[in-house]
Amino acid sequence: MHSLSIAEIIDKLRKKEFSSQEITQFFLKRIQQNDQKYNSFISLCEEQALTQARAADANLAAQTAPSALCGVPIAHKDIFCTEGLRTTCGSRMLQNFNPPYNATVVENFLSAGAVTLGKTNMDEFAMGSSNETSYFGAVKNPWDLRCVPGGSSGGSAAAVAARLVPGATATDTGGSIRQPAALCGITGIKPTYGRVSRWGMIAFASSLDQAGVMARDARDAALLLSTMASHDHRDSTSMDRPREDYSRQLDKPISELRIGIPKEYFDQGLNAGTEKAVQEAISSLTKLGAKTHAISLPHTHLAVPAYYVIAPAECSTNLSRFDGVRYGHRCENPKDLLDLYKRSRGEGFGAEVKRRILVGTYALSSGYYDAYYRKAQQVRRLIKQDFVDAFKEVDMIVGPTCPSPAFEFGAKGDDPVAMYLEDIYTIAANLAGLPAMSIPCGLVDNKPVGLQLIGNYFAEGSLLNAAHQFQCHTDFHTQTPKDLT
Ligand code: GLN
Repeated sequence: MHSLSIAEIIDKLRKKEFSSQEITQFFLKRIQQNDQKYNSFISLCEEQALTQARAADANLAAQTAPSALCGVPIAHKDIFCTEGLRTTCGSRMLQNFNPPYNATVVENFLSAGAVTLGKTNMDEFAMGSSNETSYFGAVKNPWDLRCVPGGSSGGSAAAVAARLVPGATATDTGGSIRQPAALCGITGIKPTYGRVSRWGMIAFASSLDQAGVMARDARDAALLLSTMASHDHRDSTSMDRPREDYSRQLDKPISELRIGIPKEYFDQGLNAGTEKAVQEAISSLTKLGAKTHAISLPHTHLAVPAYYVIAPAECSTNLSRFDGVRYGHRCENPKDLLDLYKRSRGEGFGAEVKRRILVGTYALSSGYYDAYYRKAQQVRRLIKQDFVDAFKEVDMIVGPTCPSPAFEFGAKGDDPVAMYLEDIYTIAANLAGLPAMSIPCGLVDNKPVGLQLIGNYFAEGSLLNAAHQFQCHTDFHTQTPKDLT
């Protein structure tokens, strides 16, 4: 049963080959039996899941046209608030936080009848590219347990890769959907900024954060995204656009598709095996009729430096609410108010989060704001303009998702800059607010490689279609880690 796609689960639920309660129980048990190996979940919610599954079964029996995901079990990244279910954001700070409400994303899945199995592990406050910063321990890559799954949505990625769950939500501020999707050999999409509501999603860097989905293939990702993406008046940056059924946009030939290959994405930092797999994937796209164009995104080298000013600046203000009074962990027996603030924050946050708060506070402080924050925003504008210019010539931009396959634990632990360079190909799409996805396109040393597709604003449908066409003619997305039981 674990090898079924979401599309197949939907079909079998309709045909009554199994009930939602049966498939929910199956996956809960599978997680309980296997997740010690991966540590991909922080919390499971068996009782709630079974109640939701029972309701879904009743709807499936009573309704002539239940919503597509009715009865389908999924997991949420532990960054989305879930009513009455602990939401930690991977941090000691929120170790005991039980939200009184659901994030809009969670609500959208619940009202479609999907079943929540639990909450997935992640880098603390979504800061990281390896899942090593989680207070709840690192997540292991199902393809090689000595290696990282990527981050920050490593729990969701590993859970889907190990087939512990058919699909999961995730978030992407600088690559946290695409990079772990690439490293775990699954499909992930980050939509256009504003397409999915951020309400109830714990904020890291608000002008960059965007929620999306992870699944085994583009068809499943389309099903999930169609349910997830909606306008939300509670999020002022949510775009007022009608819902879309992305599943209906998957049958277009790509013979007219113009794909741009940015020369900056094939620089000397790119692993040779990764480059080969990506080049072969591009050839497969051209065999399907797509036409390649050499393009340039000249400000690519400035994306990582600009991001590491803007994201920490925004995180330093967003995380100021966690002070032990308004939100979060409170230290024992404080001497006075200042001691309470200092020790609560000192104990509640891990090293990477503290580093970002320090950098961000510095960049925003008077006298430095113009030199750093304003400058970074100006650079961001140039990066966006590169894409606007490129999309005059091409419909989609294609390249690697990450510079190399999954690395070993500790490999970049002492060197934050080496870790930050993991996102060198993913960050620009966040700075520009563009939709982008990663799909599996090969193995190097038995570890997956991701192909990145970046689309124009609100072109999620064409991205998913191109990915689906690729997946109809290749089988990388069906491969699983060797020792999967
Ligand atoms: N790895 C990047 C960071 O640490 C991106 C994280 C994310 O997208 N949430 O900031």
